[in-house]
Amino acid sequence: MTILVTGASRGIGREIAKNLAQKGNIVIANYNKSEEQAQNLQKENANIEIYKADVSKREEVKQMVEYVLKKYGKIDVLVNNAGISENKLFTDVTDEDWQKIINTNLYSAFCVTQEVLPNMIHNKFGCIINISSIWGMVGASCETVYSIAKAGIDAMTKSLAKELGPSNIRVNSIAPGIIDTDMNKNLTQEDIENIKNEIPLQKVGKTIDIAKCVEWLINDQYTTGQIISINGGWVII
Ligand code: NAD
Repeated sequence: MTILVTGASRGIGREIAKNLAQKGNIVIANYNKSEEQAQNLQKENANIEIYKADVSKREEVKQMVEYVLKKYGKIDVLVNNAGISENKLFTDVTDEDWQKIINTNLYSAFCVTQEVLPNMIHNKFGCIINISSIWGMVGASCETVYSIAKAGIDAMTKSLAKELGPSNIRVNSIAPGIIDTDMNKNLTQEDIENIKNEIPLQKVGKTIDIAKCVEWLINDQYTTGQIISINGGWVII
C-alpha cells in the first residue's frame, strides 16, 4: 500500500512510518523542520521517502499530495499525526497561540484529508487514521486549546466515517495517553512517577504501542468512526 504519514521525522509518526515500511508498504514520511532526523529515517528504511511540508499550510499540503499522486498514483492510507502541545493557563493563551495550536493539530488534518480524499473516493478505497489524544476526550487543565483541537479531530473522525463509509473509506482516531516522546520532555522524573501512579498499568506507553494499532486499523475491514484510546487504563469511559 502507499501510505502518507504526517509529522514523521520523530516520535510516534517516525515509529508508524518505520513499522509500516518494514511490512513492505511504501511510506511517504512528511516532516517540517527536523531535516537531519528525516534524512536518517530515509537512509535506514528502503521503503520510506521523506517529503518536507508544513501541514498547516494549504499550498505546501497541495504540492505534497500532488507529488505523491504523480509518483505513486494513489494514496491508500493517510495518518494525520503531526501535532504540537503547549502548557498555559487559559487566561494567558494569546490569539497567536490559538492559531498555532489549532492550525497545526486540527486544520492540518482537515487540509491534508481534503487534498487526499478525491483520489481515495475515485479508488473506492481508503483508510484515514487521525492521532488525537485522551485530552480531547476528557479535557486537560492548562492545555485547553490542545484539548479543543483533539476533540475537533475526533468529531471529524466520526462525521467523515459516516460521509465516506459508502465510498469504502474508513476513518478512525487513535487517542494516546502518555507516550514516551519529545512531546513530554518538559516533564520531570517526579512528574512521570506521579503520572505512572495514576495509570492502572503503571507505565508510560511506547511509540510502538501506537504503531501496532495503526497497523491493525489498516488491516481491519469493519472498524470505522471509532476513537481507540491506548492509554494503559488512565482514561476509561
Ligand atoms: P513529537 O513532538 O515527537 O512529534 C510531533 C511531530 O509533528 C514532529 O515530527 C514535528 O516535526 C511534527 N510537526 C509539528 N508541526 C508540524 C507541521 N506544521 N508540519 C509537519 N509536521 C509537523 O510528539 P509525538 O508524541 O510523537 O506526537 C505525535 C502525535 O501524537 C501528535 O499529534 C500528538 O498530539 C499526539 N499525542 C502524543 C502523546 C504523547 O504523550 N506523546 C499523547 C497523546 C497524543
